[in-house]
Formats: sequence, C-alpha cells, structure tokens
Amino acid sequence: MRMKYLFILFVSLFSFFNNSFGRTIPEIIDIGIFSGETINKFNFTVTHGRYLVCNNKHEKLLEITPFSTITFERKGYQFNILRNDSVLFTEIDIKLQGAAFHNSFILNPSNRNLELRGYDGDLKVNVKNGSFSLVNSVPFESYVAGTVQWESGFNHHDIFYQVQAIIIRTYALRNLNRHSGEGFHLCDRVHCQAYYGKTTEASIISAVDRCRGEVVVDRNNHLLNTVYHANCGGETVNSEDLWSEALPYLRSNRDTYCTDMPGAHWKATIKADDLSNFLQQRFGYNPSENEWKGIKGFRQSSRRHHLDPGERIQLRHVREHFGLRSTYFSINADGEYLHLTGKGYGHGVGLCQEGAMRRARHGYTREEILKFYYWNASIIYLETEEAW
Ligand SMILES: [Zn+2]
Ligand SMILES: [Zn+2]
Repeated sequence: MRMKYLFILFVSLFSFFNNSFGRTIPEIIDIGIFSGETINKFNFTVTHGRYLVCNNKHEKLLEITPFSTITFERKGYQFNILRNDSVLFTEIDIKLQGAAFHNSFILNPSNRNLELRGYDGDLKVNVKNGSFSLVNSVPFESYVAGTVQWESGFNHHDIFYQVQAIIIRTYALRNLNRHSGEGFHLCDRVHCQAYYGKTTEASIISAVDRCRGEVVVDRNNHLLNTVYHANCGGETVNSEDLWSEALPYLRSNRDTYCTDMPGAHWKATIKADDLSNFLQQRFGYNPSENEWKGIKGFRQSSRRHHLDPGERIQLRHVREHFGLRSTYFSINADGEYLHLTGKGYGHGVGLCQEGAMRRARHGYTREEILKFYYWNASIIYLETEEAW
C-alpha cells in the first residue's frame, strides 16, 4: 500500500513540476513569417540598432546600420543578396543578427498583396521549395504584444489588452512544438495566431508589460488551451461540440455582454438548391418533404448543434461550406432562397473577445473575465529563461 501512495505522490509531483512551475518562458521565440506566401524578392531595412549578416558558419559577412537596405532576390534558379543593385552574395543560408541593445527592421516584399512589416529581433533567411523562407527570432514578449494588436486591434481597455496578452502567451507556450519539423515554433497565420509584425501602439505595449510572464492554468496547473473568438452571439460553445475533446474549462456559458457589440448579428442568403445539393453530395442525405420543411424553418433561440432532427448534419459543416460567420443562425425560406439570420462571429469556444472587451469597460478584473470564459482558471507567473 505504501508503495502505491508513494508512486501516486511521485506521479502527481512530476506532472505538477513538469507542467507549470518547472516550465519557463523562452526568452526568444522563432516565428515562421510570411508563411504560406511565395517570397521571391524583398528588401531588409534596419530601423534601429545594427545588424550583422552572418553565414551558417557564424562568420560575419557584412554589417548594416539604420536606414540602409539590402535586397534578397530570386533570379531563375539563382538566389542573390544585393546592395545598390550589385550582387554581394549568392549563398542563402543567412542570419541577420541584431548587435545593439535594441534591434528592429522592416521587410518589404515585392508581392503585390503584401505590405511592409516591422519586426524586433533577428531574421533567418533560407531557400525552401524554390523561394525564400523567413524566420523571425523575436523576444517572446514582443511577439505577444504584436499578436495582441493583430488579434484584437486598437483602442481597447487596458484590462482587455492584459487578458488578451495572457491568453496569447498561454496559447503560444502550449503550442510551442507545433512547427518544430519546419525549423520554427509557430507560424504567423491564424493557424497559430496572427502575427504580422511588431506593434508600436503604446497602450498595448504597456498592458503586455504589466502582465509580463503571466499565464492561465487549470486546477492541476496545466496550461489551458486558451482558444478565443470574436463574438459568441450570447452563448459560448462546449469544446466537444466543435472538436472531439471535452475540456472541463471550455464549457458553454450565457454571455450577455457581447449581444450589442459589432460582431453580434449577421445576415446571409443562400440558394435552397445549394443547401440541398450540399446535404446530398456531402452526406448522402435526402430530406423527406417534412424534414425539408423543418430545415426551411430552422430556429435557434439557444444554440443547437445539428441542422436536422436526425442529428446527421452538424452545423459546423454548414458554416464551413457556406463561409458563414457562425453556426448560431435561424432560417427563413423565401421561394428559391434561404435567408439566414445569425448571431456571433467565430467558433464560439473559450473567450468571447467582444464580451471580454465590454466586461473590461464595466470594471471586471482580469481574473473575473478569465474565470468566466475558462471555468476555474487561475493566473500564475512564469519566469523567463535567460539566454546564456
Ligand atoms: Zn501555425
Ligand atoms: Zn459573447
């Protein structure tokens, strides 16, 4: 018996240390930037500090100072680094390494759909699959601040920005290995979290600084899966209704704070034929006349998960196929058209951003907001792992 208790004690201590306090925040995080884009040419311009251009043997090839630019360009099968139109190097396995106390730069790709972006930290440049592959090695808290801006925008309450920073930080730490096979921690797209460069917004930077190192954990001190969405439409969703896993802190809640916010309501019109074709082709479902009548008058006063009474068609598939803002909608038929009246914006699991924004303005604390959207969550502080 004693051995058994010792073993249980050992296992719980191990999981306790392994999952929270034994964990630290890396000082630097590697983000794959412009991921999913084909980059054939871009300019790198120093905006602050100075940069050493180093090869993969850590040899310094060049030093660049503020407002000087070098260009990376693909010419056929050849990849060049140029300054003032003359080729400096043709070997592309390069690190642009900041050498001053604070270093930042701007990247300006020639792709028409992309605008220039500013970054802190270092840049690794490689060639992968015939175009440039870029990794920003960025101080962790600078990544958090940039992501707060891209995931939530401007002019929000300080408490909301702190809440957003805490859940972005937690999400990043929980998913650090997501892209390990590609040579970086996280990508810069919504797949991980949107990070289209650093922020220069003072209110965001100071909010991130005020909650530096703070993360949210469950009762067992495990980092939470801090998913979030723009607006829940008045009712959040259980995790298992969207994904297969039922998490005890991702439970459905009635939210009265977001129902007058910009993302609360939406309308869409689809063709009745398009819906019936979709049901038939995707699920082999041919509704009877009576069932079709039910679908044409489909109502949700509180959230439902299926479109049909037989519970074959999950609403998330309908949302996905027709590009709808949420699964929380009702239907009115009008001849060959179906008018959809919807509530909310996003998947509805976890924190509702617009509900949290309004709660912050109404004087709720960070703990109150986080505990409302993540049941029994607590905030703890993790220290940064200093680089040696
Ligand atoms: Zn990703
Ligand atoms: Zn909400």
